[in-house]
Amino acid sequence: MNYGNIKYFDIADGVGVRTTLFVSGCTHHCRECFQPETWDFGFGEEFTDKEEDEIIASLKDDFVEGLTLLGGEPFEPENQKALLPFLKRVREEVPEKSIWSYSGYTWEELNDPENERCHTEYTMEMLKMLDILVDGEFHIEEKNLGLRFRGSANQRVIDVKKSFERGEPVLSEYNEKEIIK
Ligand code: SF4
Repeated sequence: MNYGNIKYFDIADGVGVRTTLFVSGCTHHCRECFQPETWDFGFGEEFTDKEEDEIIASLKDDFVEGLTLLGGEPFEPENQKALLPFLKRVREEVPEKSIWSYSGYTWEELNDPENERCHTEYTMEMLKMLDILVDGEFHIEEKNLGLRFRGSANQRVIDVKKSFERGEPVLSEYNEKEIIK
């Protein structure tokens, strides 16, 4: 798997100060995507043990709340395979930190065993590593700059643990309505 960027001290992509990993590769091709260069699975650099170590070291800082996965598309099948062992490391080495992931796939699509585009042998385990999933493609028609943590109104900030408990997607407290008028 390749990645395009790692942002340290990121305050835009989740709650608090975070480390954000922008993985490469996305097949959604949303109209007016904010970073189409990341659609290419070969974009950027190879994600290696060195990057894993640096991200985990950053997560050990007291003021860093957690890790966010962005893209590109973290839930493209090839990216799931690469990210799952990394997420296991994060959970083992810094269990107190939160993990957020963005995905152009919806909660329902990721949970559907019949969906060959995004449901793989890794998907459920990867989802269970998360605290928050921000789901859905970016819809330019529903773009709203006032939404916190999401670009268009169709996207949802989902509380993953509560969703598994209830067997349906449960919106997080962070799925706020517009915050800017
Ligand atoms: S899912 Fe994200 S990265 Fe992929 S095309 Fe849509 S906005 Fe761009």
